[in-house]
Amino acid sequence: MKNHCLLIEELKKIDRLILASVRSWFSFPKSLSNNIFYTPTSLGGLGLRNLHRDYVALRLATALNVVNSRDERIQKIARKALVEIVDKRSKSTLSPIDYLHLDKELIVTKDIRSLLSSIRLNRKSLLIDLEQVETDDPASIDLDLESLMIPPNLQLFRRQHASRIKRLRWHVQKSFLNKWKAQLDQGRTIECFSHLREANSWLRTGQIDIRTYRFAVMGRANTLPTKYTLKKRQLTTSTKCRRCPCDVETIGHVLNGCKHGCALIQLRHNDVVKMISEAVKPKKDWTLRLDQTVPDTQSNRRPDIVLLNLKEKKAVIADITICYEANIDRMDQVREHKIMKYETEANILRDQGFEVHCTALVYGSLGSHHPLNIPQHPTLQLNLWKAKRKTFLKNLTKTILESSYKIWKNHVHHT
Ligand SMILES: [Zn+2]
Repeated sequence: MKNHCLLIEELKKIDRLILASVRSWFSFPKSLSNNIFYTPTSLGGLGLRNLHRDYVALRLATALNVVNSRDERIQKIARKALVEIVDKRSKSTLSPIDYLHLDKELIVTKDIRSLLSSIRLNRKSLLIDLEQVETDDPASIDLDLESLMIPPNLQLFRRQHASRIKRLRWHVQKSFLNKWKAQLDQGRTIECFSHLREANSWLRTGQIDIRTYRFAVMGRANTLPTKYTLKKRQLTTSTKCRRCPCDVETIGHVLNGCKHGCALIQLRHNDVVKMISEAVKPKKDWTLRLDQTVPDTQSNRRPDIVLLNLKEKKAVIADITICYEANIDRMDQVREHKIMKYETEANILRDQGFEVHCTALVYGSLGSHHPLNIPQHPTLQLNLWKAKRKTFLKNLTKTILESSYKIWKNHVHHT
């Protein structure tokens, strides 16, 4: 169990080299956070493995596997060796669990590091706790699961049957995600796209134009060279929009507000409405009306989708919108506003004895999906199940990202 393995410093060097190479391939700006690179693709990161952190996790998991080996002979030898190490280093004053939670060694030790003698350092490095699992055996130490972080959206069965190394790797990944989230500018939109794998699958598959990929990663981290960002980096003196009189050119303004991109913004909306409406399969006695007025309401407003059942006097009014996902609260506000938008027409129908349901589908201009979109699928008679639904959601994100990239390109390069 002697350590003839890699030196941690060598691994850190390799990590730095990989990071620098990926940054250079994509020409990502220096300001793009390292945490994005090490967050899993399913959560919106680039999915790189951090060799140094993985190695620490692997060493700790292996040590605990030996201490808790199903082979009683191995378990006995490992636990005896652990007690000997602890006794030597604490001069028999501490139990293994107390020693392993020390921040510093009590004595200067020149022992060669082994799996077992490194447990304390590796535990400390990963910021986790251990626990004694058998009351009558102080050396029966294992992971304290309460102290481990788990990435969101993991199915229950995966959590229950995970190995020690898997749990530690999840913990490492979640710590990168948390650090990214804590970043004021770069982390504020994570909540919008990290909850749905399909909003991030393009990061894993790479089935998207490389320029769109780069745009989307930088857009989600708010590092695209808008006038706002350039001013922050002191590369320009004014935040004024380069295409309209707006005082602050932010990514939200370019992708959703600037008059210069009006036609392309409308086109993006139309493309998304078309994709969704093609997936609507009206049930018997229901008719689908796209971009038409609500009948018998004398209103000339045109919701994106109206589903009508004159026989049963039922109606569904739905609006589809693509807003800038500044944060999840913003997406909530937009959804609420869109649901209330056609309340007047809905009330007129209700007065005529109709049962009316108003709803909205809200997407982000950087490919996010509002968490309440999918629960609306049955109401909108979107006949999508399992694989078909996944493909549909992935395609929606891809279409939105490609359209938004066109809007960005038109804003920055158009002369
Ligand atoms: Zn503008």
